[in-house]
Amino acid sequence: MFAIAMTEPGTGSDLANIATTAKLSADGTHYVLDGAKTFITGGALADRVLVVCRTSAFDATNRRAGLSILVVDTTSEGFAVGRKLDKIGLKASDTAELSFSSVRVPVEDRLGEEGAGFSYLTHNLAQERLTIAIGASATAAAAVQHALAYTKERDVFGKPVASFQNTKFVLAECSADVEAIRQFVDRALELHNAGELTVPDAARVKLFATETAGRVIDKCLQLHGGYGYVLEYPIARLYADTRVSRIYGGTSEVMKTIIAKDLGL
Ligand SMILES: Cc1cc2nc3c(=O)[nH]c(=O)nc-3n(C[C@H](O)[C@H](O)[C@H](O)COP(=O)(O)OP(=O)(O)OC[C@H]3O[C@@H](n4cnc5c(N)ncnc54)[C@H](O)[C@@H]3O)c2cc1C
Repeated sequence: MFAIAMTEPGTGSDLANIATTAKLSADGTHYVLDGAKTFITGGALADRVLVVCRTSAFDATNRRAGLSILVVDTTSEGFAVGRKLDKIGLKASDTAELSFSSVRVPVEDRLGEEGAGFSYLTHNLAQERLTIAIGASATAAAAVQHALAYTKERDVFGKPVASFQNTKFVLAECSADVEAIRQFVDRALELHNAGELTVPDAARVKLFATETAGRVIDKCLQLHGGYGYVLEYPIARLYADTRVSRIYGGTSEVMKTIIAKDLGL
């Protein structure tokens, strides 16, 4: 199992600020890796961790230079798993702190060219963002299905919740939102399959899908009344699990900065 370790206690959105260092040995055979990572999905169970680290000193005139990606064997001396973070959702996936104390990494285990890490990340994060948008599409659609089923069964004031005009209007809005997400995600998938999904377009689809899914799931939870707040109901788990989609893979605010730059702003 693999994990990818970009985020550090001191930096998340600003990846160029990564402080974990990898120094090449005098004989050029290996790197010596030192630093700490946090929020790493699958980090506690991974066999290999792709670690984004600094292989040359920070250069304020070119902040993106000097980052590389090393593939670290988690049985290496000096590698340690710290706390598993206690999240509000996504309970089935571990999210861990990792530390690296003078971990020896053979030069052959560097992924790609030295110093090109930032551009590899920029390129590949587009696919990760599309994947997150696909998840948002599925969870929003599921939320509407759960709300439809629940409101038909639950009687209040002697009639099903589904019979109130408010319920019909809310679910109609949610249904339109779900369809809009699906169309946008399908279009992005087509572009991805054609090798044409740009970084700004991936940011657009992630922003729209995750923000819209968040609103849809919140409205569907509301239709469940108090039961929507109880984890034994699927809508509560969807609410908790989906919240992070607006944060990981790059926050909504970071998506907006990418899109704004694409607009020439
Ligand atoms: C469950 C989970 C799993 C994760 N898995 C991984 C993983 O596998 N690997 C990994 O490397 N990371 C992972 N992360 C980390 C995740 O990618 C970061 O949390 C995320 O990128 C935000 O970084 P941060 O938490 O340091 O927030 P910060 O960067 O400190 O941001 C704080 C706030 O400032 C805002 N902000 C930042 N920059 C700007 C700006 N320019 N303009 C306006 N607002 C701004 C942000 O949007 C946010 O609202 C995971 C996180 C979670 C919660």
